[in-house]
Amino acid sequence: MRLILLGPPGSGKGTQAQRLVQRYGIVQLSTGEMLRAAVAAQTPVGLKAKDIMASGSLVPDEVVVGIISDRIDQPDAAKGFILDGFPRTVPQAEALDALLKHKHLQLDAVVELRVNESALLQRVETRAAETRARGEEVRVDDTPEVLTKRLAAYRSQTEPLIHYYSERRKLLTVDGMMTIEEVTREIDRILTAIGAADSKAAAKRPNPAKRSVKTTATETAATKAARAPAGAAKKAARGGAKSAAKRGAVAKKAGKAAKRGPLRTKKAAAKTAVRKPAKKVTKKRAKG
Ligand code: AMP
Repeated sequence: MRLILLGPPGSGKGTQAQRLVQRYGIVQLSTGEMLRAAVAAQTPVGLKAKDIMASGSLVPDEVVVGIISDRIDQPDAAKGFILDGFPRTVPQAEALDALLKHKHLQLDAVVELRVNESALLQRVETRAAETRARGEEVRVDDTPEVLTKRLAAYRSQTEPLIHYYSERRKLLTVDGMMTIEEVTREIDRILTAIGAADSKAAAKRPNPAKRSVKTTATETAATKAARAPAGAAKKAARGGAKSAAKRGAVAKKAGKAAKRGPLRTKKAAAKTAVRKPAKKVTKKRAKG
C-alpha cells in the first residue's frame, strides 16, 4: 500500500502514520523526521535545511525529492509506505508522480486530514508540553510564532495539492477533528472501501464480523464516486454518481446495496466528507 497523508501541522499525520505502520506493516517516510535527523547529524542537507526549518519555511523541492526518491528505493519500503509531510508543493507532487512512474509504482490514495485551524495551535502546544514531560527536546519550530508561518506555508503551497489529487481521483478526506481512535477507524474503513487495505490487514481489524464483503463492495463504488474536487460537494456528488453509473459491475453492486438499505448510521456518515456523495449514489440506484 502506498499512501500520502495530507494535512496542516498538528493535524495528526504523524500519529496516524504510526498507526498505519503498525496495522499494515508498511514504513512511514516523514521528510520532517529525515530532515531533523540530517540537521542533528550535520550532513550537507542538514546544514542547508537547519535555518529554513527553524523559520517555518519550506526546504527547496529538489532537496526533499532527492531524499524521498532514495528512501523509496530502500528494501523496507518495498511492501509499501506512507508519505508524511511530502509532497508539500505542486512541483513536489509532480516530481513524485514522475519518480513513481519511473519506479513502476502506483499510489493508492491521498488521505487528507481536515481540521479547524483554530485547534492547531492548541494541539501543537500540547505536543510541545508532552515532549517536555518525556524529558525530550521540543522542536524549535513548535512555537506559536513559527507555527503561524508553517500554517501560512501550508495554505499557500500545500493546500493546492487537495485540488491536485482530487482531480486525479486520489483524494479521500477524513474529519481530523474526531478522536485519534475514530480517525484511525475512519482511515481504515476508507482504505478497505477503496480496496487499498489487503485482506491480511483487514483480518486484524478488531471486529471484522461487522464488515461484510457486501459493505466493502458497496462502499468501494461509493468512495470512488466521491473522489471529486473538494469544495464542490453537490457537484461532486452529481458528477461522482454519474461516473459511477457508467461503471458496469461496480455500479450494479451499489444498486443492489441500495435496495438492501443504508449501511451506515447518520452520525457516522456525517463524520467523513467522502461519504456524503455515497448517499446520493445509493439513492440514485434505488430510483433507477
Ligand atoms: P514536519 O515535521 O513535516 O512538520 O516538517 C518540519 C519542517 O521540515 C517543515 O516546516 C519544513 O521546513 C521542512 N519540511 C518537511 N517536509 C518538507 C517538504 N516536503 N518540503 C519542504 N520542506 C519540508
